[in-house]
Amino acid sequence: MVEGVRERRRAVRQPIPPPSAWAGERDAAALAQGRSRPAWAEIDLAAITHNAGVLARLVHPARLCAVVKAHGYGHGGPAVAKAAQAGGASGLAVALVDEGMELRQYGVHGPILLLSECSTDAVETVVAHGLRATLYSTGAIEHFGRAAAKLGHEIPVHIKVDTGMHRVGAPPDEIPALVRAVSDDPLLRVEGLWTHLPVADGESADDRAFTLGQLAAFDDVVAALARTLGAAPDVLHAANTAGAIAFPTARYGMVRCGIGLYGYLPGPAVRTAFDAASGGEALRPALSLRARVVSVRTLEAGERPSYGRLRPLSHRGVVATVPIGYADGVPRALFSHGASVLIGGHRRPLAGMVTMDQIVVDCGEDGSVAPGDEVVLLGRQGDEEITADEWAALLGTISYEVLCGIGPRVPRIMVNPPGPDAGNGTPPTH
Ligand SMILES: *Cc1c(COP(=O)(O)O)cnc(C)c1O
Repeated sequence: MVEGVRERRRAVRQPIPPPSAWAGERDAAALAQGRSRPAWAEIDLAAITHNAGVLARLVHPARLCAVVKAHGYGHGGPAVAKAAQAGGASGLAVALVDEGMELRQYGVHGPILLLSECSTDAVETVVAHGLRATLYSTGAIEHFGRAAAKLGHEIPVHIKVDTGMHRVGAPPDEIPALVRAVSDDPLLRVEGLWTHLPVADGESADDRAFTLGQLAAFDDVVAALARTLGAAPDVLHAANTAGAIAFPTARYGMVRCGIGLYGYLPGPAVRTAFDAASGGEALRPALSLRARVVSVRTLEAGERPSYGRLRPLSHRGVVATVPIGYADGVPRALFSHGASVLIGGHRRPLAGMVTMDQIVVDCGEDGSVAPGDEVVLLGRQGDEEITADEWAALLGTISYEVLCGIGPRVPRIMVNPPGPDAGNGTPPTH
């Protein structure tokens, strides 16, 4: 091979670094080596691949679209996207144009769906990066028509119908006109029609009825399109993780799973449905949040470590300092709600308020805890496990917010990446 060609190829493959510490596997490895403090999130990519496989099998013959917005729910977008593809995801979805661009810059191929209509200034970027637009206004359709004309080839788009989420999308009665506007443009094609379910994770009869009502409204839109335009879009999709698991009729041709991909289920009703449908296969949490003890001190009963001097030690004992805090996504409220971390395979409560950069841990009379010991804030150690669901229950939130809250200051260390011949490959379709 001509040397110049090889050089150029290497240069083209070199990813453009995103504007923050978020990155793919390369940056994580670099950060791991040059870490200035021992605190990191370990991302088990084999768990992502496994979870994608479990979900893909569960919804088959519907296809799996892996939702990797918000940097893969805090796990790291590009690496997660590739691991999900290796497990059988045939498409990806993101919230922002920037997120889609980051995936492309890290060499992620295949369809990437934008989950909301982008701003008009972003249209050319969307088209240039081969991102699939979601549209629900005539203005946006016109902009994409012009971009397609400039590009000189056909662009597939998805139309979103609002059947009750009331966040984005067009009302059902506007859909035929929007689909007509797309079809009238020779370079635009309606590839997909979709909607979104706000209470598919609900346990009440009301929630179930609401979801079934949404699906009926969606079916009515599809029927109206068939009547008025003589055709339905190729890909219909409605289900998030909860919908995909708890409502088989919501699967249509494709499901959009986020939280399940990361190893979590959104609520007990979905868990029950999952256990019934998954044939004994379990999802595995992919992220663990880890650090090391940097110092220990022995304090007398009655001492009150950390800001506010909020709680006296009940006994003389060892308090360990760990370099991770609320600036990293370890919320202050964990202290008042009695959270623990794992050291030496045991649960140890926080000894005082979470600070911006550090926590203090009550190790009781265990004199064996020493600097360098591994601390698990989320994840497994020995027989113990702390999940994002456990934090979410303490904090009155959901696992999603816990995972997305882990800050950009925490390096993501990617482990167990898919091998070169894993999964179904990733055909470059853009
Ligand atoms: C985030 C999102 C999803 C994924 O939801 P999960 O509950 O994480 O599976 C699916 N569809 C849309 C429109 C979303 O915004």
